[in-house]
Amino acid sequence: MPDCIFCKIVVGEIPSAKVYEDAAKLAFMDINPVQPGHVLLIPKKHYERLTDLPDEAAADLAAALPRLARAAVAAARADGFNIFQANGRCSGQTVSHVHIHIIPRRNNDGYSFHWRPGQYAPGEQEAWRKKISDELVKTRKSGS
Ligand code: AMP
Ligand code: ZN
Repeated sequence: MPDCIFCKIVVGEIPSAKVYEDAAKLAFMDINPVQPGHVLLIPKKHYERLTDLPDEAAADLAAALPRLARAAVAAARADGFNIFQANGRCSGQTVSHVHIHIIPRRNNDGYSFHWRPGQYAPGEQEAWRKKISDELVKTRKSGS
């Protein structure tokens, strides 16, 4: 087992406040919530990044999000929610076991993700569109 705090939570070596569990995934309260009701959803198997997950495991994990978000929003009497997911230290990932944040939000809760919209120079967006499309073609599966 990797020396991973979330793997330790999965096996019960470290306590957690669980809200949902099945054979493949676990949801528990974030220990340092950015808003009350902040939940983390993880696959039980250790993967570092979302991009390491097989498609089936990613689909199973994602399928749990609407139900968990509905529950967190209802419990917090929130007005909405954010889904946040970081991959790599550069992105703010501090625990190297893939996890999805579900964060209930209220009108005027004072929290902000400091999103700074940028702009493309002429032609730049098309160059990026092509680069990403070309990468997708390289990883195309049969039937997709
Ligand atoms: P990130 O910065 O996206 O990697 O998020 C890691 C999250 O894990 C943070 O929001 C932490 O508060 C949370 N966290 C770290 N240790 C624990 C723990 N033992 N139980 C619950 N949440 C934790
Ligand atoms: Zn782990």
